[in-house]
Amino acid sequence: NKMIVLKDYVKGFPKESDLLLETSDTQLRVPDGCDGAVFVKNLYLSCDPYMRGRMSKLEGSYIDSFVPGSTLTGFGVCKVVDSTHPNFKKGDLVRGMTGWEEYSLIKSAEGLSKIQHTDVPLSYYTGILGMPGTTAYCGFYEVCSPKKGDTVFISAASGAVGQLVGQFAKLFGCYVVGSAGSKDKVDLLKNKFGFDEAFNYKEEPDLNAALKRYFPDGIDIYFENVGGKMLDAVLLNMKLYGRIAVCGMISQYNLEELEGVKNLFLLVVKRIRMEGFIVFDYAHLYPKYLEMVLPLIKQGKIVYVEDIVEGLENAPNALIGLFSGRNVGKQVVVVARE
Ligand code: NDP
Repeated sequence: NKMIVLKDYVKGFPKESDLLLETSDTQLRVPDGCDGAVFVKNLYLSCDPYMRGRMSKLEGSYIDSFVPGSTLTGFGVCKVVDSTHPNFKKGDLVRGMTGWEEYSLIKSAEGLSKIQHTDVPLSYYTGILGMPGTTAYCGFYEVCSPKKGDTVFISAASGAVGQLVGQFAKLFGCYVVGSAGSKDKVDLLKNKFGFDEAFNYKEEPDLNAALKRYFPDGIDIYFENVGGKMLDAVLLNMKLYGRIAVCGMISQYNLEELEGVKNLFLLVVKRIRMEGFIVFDYAHLYPKYLEMVLPLIKQGKIVYVEDIVEGLENAPNALIGLFSGRNVGKQVVVVARE
């Protein structure tokens, strides 16, 4: 069994050398006396920004740190090889928390669910049909309180979550603008995902002026993925009674000291509601979300772009690439295709 192990807690930007590829002998079955466990072959692994937090020593977070010297865990799509759990049998396809390795013994199968619909790409269960999709769904419909005709701005808009928020907002009848970090990503936003406008924030010397250009009358909804300077510029451009759904702040994840936000007082002046959320609190909405999104995928009304990397050995590089924007769309690692 090959596995990706955290060398030690990480400070600053993660490097490939912070993650080690190791090998061990593993029996390909649930060991004797291990009732209620599932042994899986990992097919697709999800690279997600929150995993950076787990590489640091966390206190008071919604999730535990990784343990130095141990295999990383994350969301994935797997095939059951052996099971002593009544709900899972050999050959089942499942999604949930697994190890960053070829094969995993999952002792507590609570975090696993059986994949029912296999007429869509299986890798989608790490993205549009997995945690990021649910994040976009609950973040937009539950936290943003959208109304038809609202003006919506999304940062990190071409990523796993952002590309979906934009498409949901368009289907809802909103005016949608996204920012992203390259010309190719901007092209995707406009030509593939149907955003009304998009811009490359790295080429805008004045973010406030850029937002004024696309939102001359202001922003009703900001779907926040990046934080920092972008948030400050957005606050200057929010409308009265605007809403900010704080999904993440990736620009802050590798900083030793978080950047200050200067314009927060505008929350008062403009009566803005700014609300952070964690997708785990909305897990009960997953069935309702699937019911909505599966037909949209099949009818081609929603598209999903993935950035697929082959091989577990390339997983560290893929994960780290999220923090320099190397991924174009949802970052997935293929460990095995079946
Ligand atoms: P993405 O697929 O969007 O990948 C990350 C992207 O962030 C990069 O491609 C890059 O795009 C952008 N980025 C990286 N560094 C910076 C920076 N310093 N400043 C600005 N942009 C940067 O990731 P996800 O869609 O999976 O996640 C998006 C956000 O949602 C993250 O903040 C994540 O933590 C959060 N999240 C929150 C959840 C929740 O429950 N609250 C659940 C899932 C995700 P670009 O080229 O455009 O810069």
